[in-house]
Amino acid sequence: MSVEEKPLNFLEQIIKKDLAEGACKKLVTRFPPEPNGYLHIGHAKSICLNFGLAETFGGECNLRFDDTNPAKEEMEYVEAIKKDVEWLGYRWAGEVRYASSYFDTLYSWAQHLVETGKAYVCDLSADEAREYRGTLTEPGKNSPYRERSAAENLSLLEGMKCGEFDEGSRVLRAKIDMSSGNINLRDPILYRIRKQHHHQTGDKWCIYPTYDFAHGQEDAIEGITHSICTLEFADHRPLYEWLIENLPVPAKPKQYEFGRLNLNYTVTSKRKLKQLVDEGHVDGWDDPRMPTIAGYRRRGYSPAALRKFCEMIGVTKSDGVVDVAMLEHAIRDDLDKNAPRAMCVINPLKVVLTNYPEDKTERLTAPGHPNRDDLPARELPFGREVYIEADDFREEANKKYKRLVIGKRVRLRSAYVIEADEAIKNAAGEIVEVRARIIEGTVGNDPEDGVKPKGVIQWVAAHECANFTVNLYDRLFNDVAPDAGGKDFLSCINPDSLVVKTNCKGEVGLSATTPGQGFQFEREGYFCRDLDDSKLVFNRTISLRDTFVG
Ligand code: ATP
Ligand code: MG
Repeated sequence: MSVEEKPLNFLEQIIKKDLAEGACKKLVTRFPPEPNGYLHIGHAKSICLNFGLAETFGGECNLRFDDTNPAKEEMEYVEAIKKDVEWLGYRWAGEVRYASSYFDTLYSWAQHLVETGKAYVCDLSADEAREYRGTLTEPGKNSPYRERSAAENLSLLEGMKCGEFDEGSRVLRAKIDMSSGNINLRDPILYRIRKQHHHQTGDKWCIYPTYDFAHGQEDAIEGITHSICTLEFADHRPLYEWLIENLPVPAKPKQYEFGRLNLNYTVTSKRKLKQLVDEGHVDGWDDPRMPTIAGYRRRGYSPAALRKFCEMIGVTKSDGVVDVAMLEHAIRDDLDKNAPRAMCVINPLKVVLTNYPEDKTERLTAPGHPNRDDLPARELPFGREVYIEADDFREEANKKYKRLVIGKRVRLRSAYVIEADEAIKNAAGEIVEVRARIIEGTVGNDPEDGVKPKGVIQWVAAHECANFTVNLYDRLFNDVAPDAGGKDFLSCINPDSLVVKTNCKGEVGLSATTPGQGFQFEREGYFCRDLDDSKLVFNRTISLRDTFVG
């Protein structure tokens, strides 16, 4: 899409102006995840924004892992994040980058601050430091260690780096202003002692920079021109600017904040998502009920639909809550246009067509999609016994019920009109079989006697069909705001978020599908073949009913 077609969002306006005025020659953005969990729908918004801007303005976007906290980070997450970004359809510029590859430079910049009297080693305990920090309404107090000499600070910093001190015993702090109205400027911590193995740097370091010290400098090293982040970092911007002003950085990136994406009925805190996984409330990070990109992939959402959704929600300078029905609408819209049709019966009820010869079979055809000639037609075997959905038959019913009733007719989609004669029951009185008749000559035609059926139902031939399991997924939470107001989000889990149906019957072509392939099972919903190809399992991507009022 060209920049001219739609009104520019505030970031596009800024970038367009910067490029036009030469303030920036080439746009460089970045997506900077911390590898401490899988990416979720909020990250998708940030990815689409950063990579999308680079695409629109002929720039570049880096993928940089902000791996400054080895305690919570893992290679599994690094690999999952790379896969997700690529799956969404984006390519990062050059190699993947890691904050950890700048640790030497960051350390030398920490020394620079110490040498210029702008940072000091502080021995206050965490509790003492909290007390000295002050509050939103009261200024903080200077640390008793604030006036150490540059020489002493340099040697203590070196000692921290060499592992001479215990975790928590000392930190390096910037020397800014303990009475600042902005708490982020009250001598923030730059380095902590963490005797932890790191997935990239091994045991080389036992001190690690804080996110606040690392982030802006990483942007400067990479020549990021527009450093885009979520609103909660607006208050940190003065600190980032102070650091950039006081360090010999090669470039001066500018930070712009946008509103993060919050979805109702959804939790997007990585910590809570990890808890769902660790405590077994879901089947891993890629459980189709998770709002993770990996979960959506397994559920059958397409990258195009996720990108479309991110475009629909736009970019603003304020936080808001988006209705999850809007995401579902984008998914449904994409699947409606693109998913081939197929028939599936989730609760099968056998219908014996008593006037259809036992030794006869036919091959009927049905379109692959009602409006897409490019999708191949399906061949449907037909015989004396078929399965229909148990719900699609009643012994008696009022006029509103337009399905199969004794003495009434219904059309089997793309096949014959049939009329029901009798319900066969087991000892418990449950209907186990229906006896019916085909009306001759009704494939593609109305009955000659003029008695038209009121409804059309799906069916599957019993003699040649696919047998599979269907996972009926629904929203994971049944509370509109599982995350809000101090609620226990685990108590908001929808107990019916997964219903497994093991005895489903589908058109025979469904046996020959590959993992990830998606379909509309007519009258049932959108489904896709599960990514585990050892069994034939289809996951419900989404039901047919759209609840979005746009
Ligand atoms: P945490 O820092 O608590 O682990 P995070 O959600 O900030 O979680 P990051 O890996 O730091 O995770 O995020 C990477 C990028 O994605 C950041 O630039 C962040 O601003 C952006 N991002 C994260 N969550 C959202 C969201 N809900 N909406 C938009 N952008 C988001
Ligand atoms: Mg973060």
